[in-house]
Amino acid sequence: MSIETVLHMNTGNGESSYATNSYLQEHGIQRALHVTNEAINRMCNDLGGFPGVFKIADLGCSSGPNALLGISNIISRVHDMCNENNFEVPQFQVFLNDLFENDFNIIFRSLPTFYAKLKNGEGDHCGPCFVSAVPGSFYSRLFPNKSIHLFLSSYAVHWLSRVPQGIENNKCNIYMAKTSPTNVFEAYQKQFEKDFTKFLRLRSQEIIRGGRIVFTIPGRSISDPTSEDCCIIWELLAKSLVDMVKEGRIPESDIDSFNIPYYTPYEDEVRDVIKKEGSFLIDNLYSFALDWEPYNSDNAKMDVVDRPIRGKNTAKLIRAVIEPMMATHFGNSIMDMVFHKFEEHVVHHLSAREGRNFNLVISLTKH
Ligand code: SAH
Repeated sequence: MSIETVLHMNTGNGESSYATNSYLQEHGIQRALHVTNEAINRMCNDLGGFPGVFKIADLGCSSGPNALLGISNIISRVHDMCNENNFEVPQFQVFLNDLFENDFNIIFRSLPTFYAKLKNGEGDHCGPCFVSAVPGSFYSRLFPNKSIHLFLSSYAVHWLSRVPQGIENNKCNIYMAKTSPTNVFEAYQKQFEKDFTKFLRLRSQEIIRGGRIVFTIPGRSISDPTSEDCCIIWELLAKSLVDMVKEGRIPESDIDSFNIPYYTPYEDEVRDVIKKEGSFLIDNLYSFALDWEPYNSDNAKMDVVDRPIRGKNTAKLIRAVIEPMMATHFGNSIMDMVFHKFEEHVVHHLSAREGRNFNLVISLTKH
């Protein structure tokens, strides 16, 4: 089955939806804002101001409140810079991209509020903003040659174009794990290198000279591919599936044939691909850790009593991201049970260890 038809976040804005459970990503976007602002400053310096129509594309926008968060920040930053430097405020053309199955309607319904907020925040003299959707994979061409000034992407480029090939021996795992055979790590790394190279090549055709790409992805803090801060969460989810096998609810072969098309690179891997592909220079590579508990924004150590809440919220967060893909493979009927078990494993994990994930923000210039 093609990834493009099953890869999407939980739709709508109900309890299990991505829109309701994307606070971790929202915090990540906030932490990355200064990198985007710096990219805008540099681009403005290089171009001697802003173009009359400033064209921005958000790749993998999904369907929650985050879809327009990064864009609002850019508009506000550009506006401030124009005020400070007496530049003419540009018109904004914003393209929201995601795969064909994405719930674009939710974003469209939020546009009147977005436009009203822009008017309130930046005033009538803010350049008009025209938002449209561009459905399709970012592993294919999405825009005409040299048409985009700034690409933005948060928590999307780590999704691969396909599950790596030849990893059926990743027994009882669903991602790279401590018990994965060596070929599994190699296959994931190779697929990332292939996909990320293609992503850069395609964007290099669509972006203007001097244009910028700023993207945020989950990654690893150390080169060990089973680093806790990227992979333990999926090991806990795999454990929940193994529980289901033990209870006779699913065959073990169902786990063996399920692997997540996702990769959490170490920063050197990202640097290597960018260098090898050759179209872009790295302006900034910034990293930070976030607590799994998205409401615990300052990473403070939480008390024991909060563990069940943290377990529940973490399970909801992961469910919002992976349920559509898992339900297609394992069936809808077992999803509640799997994620209940997962919640218990997360709570147990947090009783002895930290629950953090590691993030990379990369800012590139087309030279
Ligand atoms: N940017 C949002 C959403 C992140 S969720 C935020 O930060 O909260 C990741 C999104 O990337 C999903 O909606 C998924 O459908 C999309 N995505 C994954 N692979 C993609 C691809 N190849 N092309 C376009 N979108 C993709």
